[in-house]
Amino acid sequence: TRRTGTAFALVLGMTAVLGGCSWGESSDEAPLVGLAMPTTEQSRWVADGDNLEAQFTSLGYQVDKKYAENDVAGQVAQVQAMIDEGADALVIGSVDGKALAGVLAQAHAAGIPVISYDRLIRDSKDVDFYASFDNARVGVMQGNALLRGLGILDATGAPTGKKGPFNIEVFAGSPDDNNATVFYDGAMSVLKPYLDSKVLVVPSGQVAREDVAIASWDPKTGGKRMDSLLGAYKNRHLDGILAPNDGLAQAAIASAKSLGYVPVVTGQDSEIPAVKSVADGEQYMTVYKDTRQLAEVTVAMVSALLKGTQPEVNDTATYDNGVKVVPSYLLAPQEVNKDNYRRLLVDGGYYTAEEVG
Ligand code: BGC
Repeated sequence: TRRTGTAFALVLGMTAVLGGCSWGESSDEAPLVGLAMPTTEQSRWVADGDNLEAQFTSLGYQVDKKYAENDVAGQVAQVQAMIDEGADALVIGSVDGKALAGVLAQAHAAGIPVISYDRLIRDSKDVDFYASFDNARVGVMQGNALLRGLGILDATGAPTGKKGPFNIEVFAGSPDDNNATVFYDGAMSVLKPYLDSKVLVVPSGQVAREDVAIASWDPKTGGKRMDSLLGAYKNRHLDGILAPNDGLAQAAIASAKSLGYVPVVTGQDSEIPAVKSVADGEQYMTVYKDTRQLAEVTVAMVSALLKGTQPEVNDTATYDNGVKVVPSYLLAPQEVNKDNYRRLLVDGGYYTAEEVG
């Protein structure tokens, strides 16, 4: 049995305090939520898992939290095990967004609702809701920041008339992560006119997503790719790098440094090493996606579903997973730079001053 008497008493006590059972009046058993997270490689997922677990347990839920460490088959097995142990809801940050259809069909048959967490699960009709950030906006933010860092746009986002040409290189995230495509497309929607007019030049010639994607978002692979591009920069200045997240940004920066370059580099996640790098004027920007808020949205979705009510969504048009448009709640990402990192991240309580100082 998955519930101890003590836990049950605690749950009863708490729901009495809260004035109602968070998962529905009729049930007398704390529901079990399966949390399947993709990896601990990026610290954000550790925060996601911790926030989700803390928020679910504070409402009296039981939690089974598993990290797949980017192993696709391993994640399928973890989700299968959650179904087998009688999970009442599944929250999944997928490794390979296209690999879960089979196991989710089983979840559906067992009446288990499925929340696609941060990353869209594709090619399955058995995804009930999507909780994420406005990922296209993340890419647009990165593209605009790159242009600003290069001086092509001014602080208000208006073109300065600078014609360059500026030499940049482009990176994208893992091909099996739907977000990677959305980030890339968002950034390219901003950069393409400048590439077309040759204000931006990519000396490697590698711009298409297939050519610049880094499997599993692996920083080592990203660093190696940057190393391999550096030959072309012995007699040419490297001005900027579109990097989709902090892990790849930091790897590209370390590589570029070996030739003495400090290019304008974008990032995402506000990981501590990246925030320090932003503070030091090295990485140009990162993106803050408050994982506490994402956990809140997700917990609210699961609670609504288990009560038999409709979860709140704010987007029912954007995220087509190939089979259905998945109703979504999309949070707003925020740009973090040298000027605002303290206000957003320290005053906002995400990190202590010591952590990023
Ligand atoms: C997330 C990013 C993260 C990346 C690598 C994406 O799906 O949205 O925040 O950096 O995965 O883990």
